[in-house]
Amino acid sequence: MTPTPREPQHVIVLGAGPGGLTCAHELARTGYRVTVVDRESFIGGLSRTIERDGFRFDLGGHRWFTKNPALDAWFRNLMRGRLVTVERTSRILFGGKWFDFPITVGNVLRTAGVVTSAACLVDWGRTRLADLFGGGRPVTMRDAFRSQFGDRLYDMFFRRYSEKVWGRPCSEMSADWVSQRSKGLSIWTALSNALLRPRAKAQSLIETFLYPRRGYSDICERLREDILSEPENRVILGANVERVDVSDPLRPKVRWRVGGAVVEEAADYVVSTVALPALVGKLVHPRPPESVVASAASLEFRSVVCVNLMLDMPRLTSDTWVYCHDEGLGFARFHEPKNWSPDMVPDASKTSVVLEYFCSEGDAVWSMSESDLVARSVRELASLGLLTKERVIGGFAVKAREAYPVYSLGYADRLQSMKDYVASLPRLAIVGRGGTFRYNNADHSIEMGLLTAQMIRGEVGKEEILRVNTSIEYGEKNLVPAATGS
Ligand SMILES: Cc1cc2nc3c(=O)[nH]c(=O)nc-3n(C[C@H](O)[C@H](O)[C@H](O)COP(=O)(O)OP(=O)(O)OC[C@H]3O[C@@H](n4cnc5c(N)ncnc54)[C@H](O)[C@@H]3O)c2cc1C
Repeated sequence: MTPTPREPQHVIVLGAGPGGLTCAHELARTGYRVTVVDRESFIGGLSRTIERDGFRFDLGGHRWFTKNPALDAWFRNLMRGRLVTVERTSRILFGGKWFDFPITVGNVLRTAGVVTSAACLVDWGRTRLADLFGGGRPVTMRDAFRSQFGDRLYDMFFRRYSEKVWGRPCSEMSADWVSQRSKGLSIWTALSNALLRPRAKAQSLIETFLYPRRGYSDICERLREDILSEPENRVILGANVERVDVSDPLRPKVRWRVGGAVVEEAADYVVSTVALPALVGKLVHPRPPESVVASAASLEFRSVVCVNLMLDMPRLTSDTWVYCHDEGLGFARFHEPKNWSPDMVPDASKTSVVLEYFCSEGDAVWSMSESDLVARSVRELASLGLLTKERVIGGFAVKAREAYPVYSLGYADRLQSMKDYVASLPRLAIVGRGGTFRYNNADHSIEMGLLTAQMIRGEVGKEEILRVNTSIEYGEKNLVPAATGS
């Protein structure tokens, strides 16, 4: 008698951002049946692209960057024929002056002047000495920046921008963010590179990155296309997950609400990219231990409001990003999509701009009307002399919650208790930026998605996934980074 073929294992993935779709893609490729559910009506999560009147807008500019060659090869293969190479030229605007970004020693000398630059250096030396004789391990973001760059540079290039991103003083943030983003970098690295390796420095200034020509969400479009090439796979949008039932730990069930109907399905495995505090605090059933629920309730996210303006002018700046540290400006960063790919505008006579306002759900910026946000953005760009309001032919705002996991003081222990709890559930895995409450870029979430698929296939251990993005070397070569907030 011929054996009946085994039903393929069914995996339900919560969230159709890069992490969730990559995991589903990798599983589908190796014969699993996958169901992806997302509460939104679009795919891409934070990596979405919005099309309006022939203009295309990312939720803040997203570049592709990874230091993992195997992942890069996977990405290039997936996106073959759909990428452009972008030459990166970014600047910081502060105190009415334009500085190169990443900050270079030569540029600071020229722009800030010799006296200020010398003061920065002396100040850095003083801080290093003080740290050597009595400084402990930095606890706060402020301590970490100061110990790496000195008081003066911290104040010039890190404090203002960080406070815009996080909405609180750097002294109330954990040092972890700094070590995650700028490990191994210091004034010393910058100086030695500037003085001892001028050729390497010059090369690094012409940095390029890859970008999907039709906007960043094209990555998720490609993933979905492949997933749906097998008829048994589904990507269900507008489906808000309300419960993840782990009463039977080996056969979890997911309940979601879609178009007024409630659907419940069982799976062999559930992979979640839902914000971890929401997963363990609200969705998992039976309710986790009280201490875990309390940890979940204490963790916060920052949100972002992007204001997208369509402009009747061929170009605003030649930059890929502009970081605006000045406290008088509400937005923290803007980018001009056309400088990333010509396909982001309807024709060459037009351009557009995306301004990022970091905020918290429910605060004054979050609650502003769309027309007020657009008017404010036009006013702020006009105050910089970049445009006049006659050039603006349209504008709208996009709000994204759960955009930035906040590494507040003491967050790490609370996070660990949630991760330990999830680790005790044999058929539930967490992936992604909100999903693991880790400051992931898209490549990290994608890498986690791939590893999670391998883990489900029994090829790697669960702990491998949580190791992604824990030993970051900063992406910028040779130079001192500023706080970026991607
Ligand atoms: C302004 C900004 C700029 C950035 N720039 C860059 C960059 O230049 N390069 C880069 O690599 N990365 C960048 N990032 C980071 C990148 O956007 C994220 O790392 C990436 O999108 C994370 O993917 P993810 O799948 O982990 O999570 P997400 O993209 O957040 O996807 C999670 C999904 O889960 C869904 N979900 C949540 N709750 C539920 C529920 N209850 N039911 C159903 N679905 C649910 C959400 O709708 C969402 O679609 C930037 C982020 C921001 C905010």
